[in-house]
Amino acid sequence: MAEYWWVNHNTSHKHEIAGNFLWSPQRERDGKFSQFYENMRVARPGDIVLSYAKQRIGYVGRVVGLAEEAPLPDELRRPSNYWASTGWRLPVVWERASRAVEPKSVYSALQPLMPSKYSPLKRSKPEGAQKAYLARVGREVFDVIATAGGWVPIVVPEASRPSFEDLGIEGAIRQALARIAASAARSGEQRTSSYPQRSAERSDPLEALLRETWAAQKGACSLCGVAIPISPQNPLLQLSVDRIDSDVKEYVRGNVQITHLGCNLAKNSAPMEHWGEFFGVITQVAANNGMLPQGKTIL
Ligand SMILES: [Zn+2]
Repeated sequence: MAEYWWVNHNTSHKHEIAGNFLWSPQRERDGKFSQFYENMRVARPGDIVLSYAKQRIGYVGRVVGLAEEAPLPDELRRPSNYWASTGWRLPVVWERASRAVEPKSVYSALQPLMPSKYSPLKRSKPEGAQKAYLARVGREVFDVIATAGGWVPIVVPEASRPSFEDLGIEGAIRQALARIAASAARSGEQRTSSYPQRSAERSDPLEALLRETWAAQKGACSLCGVAIPISPQNPLLQLSVDRIDSDVKEYVRGNVQITHLGCNLAKNSAPMEHWGEFFGVITQVAANNGMLPQGKTIL
């Protein structure tokens, strides 16, 4: 299913619209995690974006690729506005709305539909929230705006939106990285070693390390030895990133393994020896119940 987003452009909207993209820093000015910037990496091809600038929504965009790490475009360079020289660039094809809509004019319908967390609008005013850049909104928000503007209904053919399976391991790794970032933000920790410290670095080192680890593990979970499906129905089977020694807070080479989410949750912060012992118990129970092929262990 396509997702719906709302972007509050900075002074950059002309360039972003003309150039068919969105660009954001990766972190707040003070280095803090921002869900609004992380959303750049959550958006997927086929998603729809409402463009809000100068108190109105005047363009609608369709995401046509995944966000890539990219330097601050020259056109966006302002002495005070941007602090990051490297950010996320999301390709979006923009179309001018047949009629621009001021959220103010439909605020009573819009307000109850706004997300309680990470809303693109201020809490009690129909004005763009200061720190919000790319915010997830529901289909209902889109419908209120589209109806107010009398827009020709936009049909999003589901087939045009690749699943994470279509995006393959790249998509699954992006998803896992987004979960790590979100949980680090919740716990108030900084995810270390993954965000480039120097602007010269062109790609997220953790993302590169995960691709390498995936290849080395041949796509199998390092805790149970069974293949990890790319886009499983069962969330416990999805790809997850485990720090081998949980006391080492960094996701660095030698301390990172790829697992099923379920296996990772079960291991929690236990050392590998404890996991091995526990896994022995599960496989014994499974074998006793005839859930494993006779005489065969998983590992
Ligand atoms: Zn597993």
